[in-house]
Amino acid sequence: MSYKKIIERANDRLMAMAELTEDSYFNKIPKNKIGYFINESIKIGIETAQKFMGKYNSLEEFCEDKKVKIELDTDEYGFEMIKLRGKYNEEKETIIMYHNSIKRMEIAYNELGINFLNYDTIYKILLAHEVFHLIEVKEIGKTYEKLEDINIFKLGPLKKFYPIVKTSDIGANIFAKKFLNISYHPKVLNYLYIWGAGIIDKNKLIDYFDELDQKLNKSHLNSSLK
Ligand SMILES: [Zn+2]
Repeated sequence: MSYKKIIERANDRLMAMAELTEDSYFNKIPKNKIGYFINESIKIGIETAQKFMGKYNSLEEFCEDKKVKIELDTDEYGFEMIKLRGKYNEEKETIIMYHNSIKRMEIAYNELGINFLNYDTIYKILLAHEVFHLIEVKEIGKTYEKLEDINIFKLGPLKKFYPIVKTSDIGANIFAKKFLNISYHPKVLNYLYIWGAGIIDKNKLIDYFDELDQKLNKSHLNSSLK
């Protein structure tokens, strides 16, 4: 049952850190601001889940109310397929769910003996993530627009500011976790997938989590020095 250790280690802050490091401008974030981006994005995700939890019984009901269709795409997309999971298309007012990606994920989890991550559960988690993006567009505004922009370069008086767009995904994952009341972090599904599909082994995964932990600890130090 070694997958349990991975799930246990993938706590909210570590997974938020993982998301942040995937942002194109991660290296431009001042070290003492990392905690700010993590905390604020998590807060937005939790507050949004609390706000909508009492009002709707299901994600589907919410989509119906907002006149957004949910479509299941059953096409094959080859190698890159697993990157396509769900997608909220603003113009078409549609959330597209990718059947074959979900199927592949289910197979990978089966390989690891994780039977609680079946097709329906994976579907729900990915749908909840997209519903958060829909709520951002229709109700609360984009998470990254609510947070500070980062100065990308300084050349004399010239400054250029950009948002940290990955903060939206930090919010979306926490929203999914809270709304569905699941004990594990939705982003751990990515790591369990690449492990179960044999793309990387468990030790590599643990090394990566160690690295993220170190980055988190350093950012704590930096914030307390300030
Ligand atoms: Zn997203």
